[in-house]
Amino acid sequence: MSGSTVLKFGGTSVGSAAAIRRALAIIGGTTGPRCIVVSATAGTTDRLAEAAAAAERGDGATARAHVGELQARHARLAEELEVQRVVPELDGLAEATATVLDAIALLHECTPRSRDAVWAFGERASSRIVAAALEDAGVRSTAVDATDLLITDDVFGNASPLMEPTRTAAGSRIHPLLEDGVTPVVTGFIGATAEGIVTTLGRGGSDYSAAILAAALDASELLIYTDVSGVMSADPRIVADAKPLPSLSYAEAAELSYFGAKVIHPRTVRPAIEAGIPVRILNTFAPSDPGTTVTAVAERDGTVVKATTSLGGLALVTVAGAGMSGVPGFAARVFDTTAAEQVSVLMISQSSSENSICFAVPADTGERLRTALERMLARELARHDVERVTVEAPIAIVAAVGEGMRGTPGVAARVFGALGAARVNVVAIAQGSSELNISLCVGEGDREAAVRAIHEEFHR
Ligand code: ADP
Ligand code: ASP
Ligand code: MG
Repeated sequence: MSGSTVLKFGGTSVGSAAAIRRALAIIGGTTGPRCIVVSATAGTTDRLAEAAAAAERGDGATARAHVGELQARHARLAEELEVQRVVPELDGLAEATATVLDAIALLHECTPRSRDAVWAFGERASSRIVAAALEDAGVRSTAVDATDLLITDDVFGNASPLMEPTRTAAGSRIHPLLEDGVTPVVTGFIGATAEGIVTTLGRGGSDYSAAILAAALDASELLIYTDVSGVMSADPRIVADAKPLPSLSYAEAAELSYFGAKVIHPRTVRPAIEAGIPVRILNTFAPSDPGTTVTAVAERDGTVVKATTSLGGLALVTVAGAGMSGVPGFAARVFDTTAAEQVSVLMISQSSSENSICFAVPADTGERLRTALERMLARELARHDVERVTVEAPIAIVAAVGEGMRGTPGVAARVFGALGAARVNVVAIAQGSSELNISLCVGEGDREAAVRAIHEEFHR
């Protein structure tokens, strides 16, 4: 419904009775039709992941114990908010989850599809609690499972929405509620295939759910409430004096989230961009802070590097050898291999002499890729056209992001000057052709020093 607002509350924002009361106050303070999207309470999805892993090892007892603990924690939360009436429903959800875990334990096999069925417990539980508490706070409300309205493909664990069926289903499920003055509290993170099998949108996916719903409902605004006052110039856990950014373009937001700024989910921005819906990132615990507005087009605000971000837990794979120079199709063969191994490549850099190609991948895939590449390049290795395939781990990508870098000379020199002064060794470099970011690889041990050095250089 146009004129409606979608408000999303993250894991910390629904993680305790005190936090939920703050969220209720924020919701109560808005006017007009609104649709709420909630994450699982903080730590719940991690715990469900542990339960699924235990079940896969065949340890059904540990898996059940994890669910029992989560069930107790949610019952306590319901009690603190005086909405004990939802506890029987929570017990039912927990028992259904435990049954799936029993099946996994019996088979010693956890398919992505079964895992999604387990992971869905978190958002199902939190939505019941928040809806009941909202109702008691005087706002007519009901919990809604996104499996009824967010229709996705069947890529379990990382599903994508099918926008047309979602638009139809969301419209018929949510619009009548809004028209009746009822505020739906929708589960983030989960959806369902057209056949009704539960899927998840990837870790941190509740932001994505909220953006998809905002687009499907033609909402006027998407407000993402989290535990910091917007997207900051660096991860506040690394840089103590990082500042919230008043505005950010969609492109900048996408780069930042891609390179590790966990505050927004990488895919979140897309449905909102396409629908032209303004997105604001706000703090549940300081709701009058201005937060960050994500805009379609960058506002010229005089900044060069707007934010510095980092992503750890990676390996740098290098394929090097003089015999690769000028051989057409060589890079294609290398990346065919990464694709065949289903490894996503986060950054690529090729030296101008074409003597080496190096690229960053998740650390736990490094050795597997080395084996696959050595197999694929057996002939070239034997002839010494390729000298070696090496894997360096753990490494991190550090990225400096900002639209103001475009066409501003000397940015790279300042970045590398700052890193040199901080005695950080840079192991690989890539600059996006959009000139929106400079990203580089450093040893994991240098990650925080690198972020601080670049931040200090541009935000003094
Ligand atoms: P939520 O549960 O609300 O979705 P997340 O934990 O997913 O919250 O994301 C918020 C967290 O992202 C913050 O608490 C902060 O630690 C982290 N973070 C990392 N980089 C940044 C950044 N550049 N700006 C703001 N927060 C960041
Ligand atoms: N609960 C999910 C997760 O922890 C989704 C989210 O919080 O956005 O990944
Ligand atoms: Mg998040």
